[in-house]
Amino acid sequence: FKRLTQGLAKSSDKLTGGIAAIFTKRRLDDEAIEELEELLIASDLGVKTAAKLTGNLRKTRFGKDVSDEEVRTALAEDIAEILTPVAKPLEIDPANRPHVVLVVGVNGSGKTTTIGKLAQYHREQGLNVMLAAGDTFRAAAVEQLKIWGARTGCPVIARTEGADAAALAYDAVLEARENKADLLLIDTAGRLQNKTDLMQELAKIVRVMRKVDTTAPHACLLVLDSTVGQNAHSQVSVFREIVDVTGLVMTKLDGTAKGGVVVALADQTGLPVHAIGVGEKADDLRPFSATAFARSLMG
Ligand code: GDP
Repeated sequence: FKRLTQGLAKSSDKLTGGIAAIFTKRRLDDEAIEELEELLIASDLGVKTAAKLTGNLRKTRFGKDVSDEEVRTALAEDIAEILTPVAKPLEIDPANRPHVVLVVGVNGSGKTTTIGKLAQYHREQGLNVMLAAGDTFRAAAVEQLKIWGARTGCPVIARTEGADAAALAYDAVLEARENKADLLLIDTAGRLQNKTDLMQELAKIVRVMRKVDTTAPHACLLVLDSTVGQNAHSQVSVFREIVDVTGLVMTKLDGTAKGGVVVALADQTGLPVHAIGVGEKADDLRPFSATAFARSLMG
């Protein structure tokens, strides 16, 4: 909790500083509400969610004297309410051997790092985890995943650069099954510059792995870089057109003032948020807690 608070320090500083500036011995009038709404939008909570939050405050406190602390507490409660339905850990069904998780997202969003962190976490839980280097387009991505495999003690299935990603995914599911792996995490390429290619490649990966296991993938995680702020919404739309996204992981929440985007995404997509990344190391993945996040955001 403490580290989450530190991780969200920039988002929180912006919001709490802004709220303090608006509500210094002040009545909750139209002007104050408008200023608050602008602050929430500037903090990446999005227009709709900002309006919903200020609407709630208006209903309960309009015309009353309010302190900044009271406003923060009320907002934290409402934000926690928005986040609660989406705060769900990634569940690994032991009936699936392996439970196949396809990890998608644009390049640089933190896919490979998140896979490394998830591998570490689930290994510690006693699961037999395997990784597949499905971003066959970039040699560096394959190397990066191999480093995470070595670091976490998880075998990595990889092919040479330029190999067919779907063929690799097929082999990976087979190999993971033969090795009685509990969990197979598959990295993918995220070249959003060419949407048609990406769409075809991901569709083919899914189609081909289903020749081994008709129920795979059992989850499709979209990894989003929180620092892109409102841009995250368009990434969600694009990837949902391509694959059946089942949940989100938000990365780089350390050192960004854009943590509010998590609230906007929760409110507007309803997609589960499985975990958040608060650093580059193996243990810098946090389970997503609605109340802890809301409180950290509101200082
Ligand atoms: P990919 O291209 O989607 O696989 O992205 P990578 O996993 O290679 O990550 C891109 C960069 O972001 C790397 O330098 C990572 O170390 C860094 N990164 C990933 N997750 C986090 C995070 O939660 N916090 C911070 N500060 N950096 C992160």
